[in-house]
Amino acid sequence: MRIFDPHVHMTSRTTDDYEAMAAAGVAALVEPAFWLGQPRTNVGSFLDYFDGLLGWERFRASQFGVAHHCTIALNPKEAGDPRCTPVLDELPRYLEKDGVVAVGEIGFDSMTAAEEEAFTRQLAMAVEHELPAMVHTPHRDKAAGTRRTLELVEASGIAADAVVVDHLNETTLADVDAAGCWMGFSVYPETKMDEHRMVRILLDRGLDRVLVNSAADWGRSDPLKTRAVGEAMLVAGFTEDDVDRVLWRNPVAFFGRSGRLLLEDVRTELGAEHEGSSVLRGPRS
Ligand SMILES: [Zn+2]
Repeated sequence: MRIFDPHVHMTSRTTDDYEAMAAAGVAALVEPAFWLGQPRTNVGSFLDYFDGLLGWERFRASQFGVAHHCTIALNPKEAGDPRCTPVLDELPRYLEKDGVVAVGEIGFDSMTAAEEEAFTRQLAMAVEHELPAMVHTPHRDKAAGTRRTLELVEASGIAADAVVVDHLNETTLADVDAAGCWMGFSVYPETKMDEHRMVRILLDRGLDRVLVNSAADWGRSDPLKTRAVGEAMLVAGFTEDDVDRVLWRNPVAFFGRSGRLLLEDVRTELGAEHEGSSVLRGPRS
């Protein structure tokens, strides 16, 4: 089983986790930029973190043969903090770097006006830099947050299928599906989505435009949950090819739009249909 975890915060995990993930079949991952568990007090704190994602974490992953990619953004939890918002001016130079495969995580945490402004500015950066966008949905007021998210995505002019709306569940997936965005599901050990609920969603909805991740971070979480979903899919009657599609080819297709995946043979993986595709629509596409 080859696995691409499209959302996992390795900065908060140990090197033993990398080893266990590699043994379970995880050959590639995306680490979205997020907060540090406690508030940052200055822009330099972001820059050291971004440099760590691009340097140290990529090296740590490479020791186990895991291709490490990241997304760069001002995260929703800090988007309302005036000590943090000036980092928006620093993002463009990071969005040009190798291995940066999307703008993210962006979106809403508490649905404030400041969060909305940072979200809108960063969607515009995704369009400008021709990158996909990874959008976090709030754990409270998820339905309202998801609806407002989709309105802002639509207004931004980014192609709907260049956006993944993450942390979905049974109640929020239909709106995201109807909008044409990719649907991200985070599989956790004890709360929210688990691998059995995930399999039921795949049985009901199908495999198209679905990304499954562990979202592992400092909280109780499990970076092997992607593997658990693959095993549960096989038990439920899905084929090995179905598992490969969900856990490998889907994330390769989505993040491959950046043109920055650090995988060998990625052009073969993507196939001719994605050649020359752009995240833009309208005059620039
Ligand atoms: Zn996250």
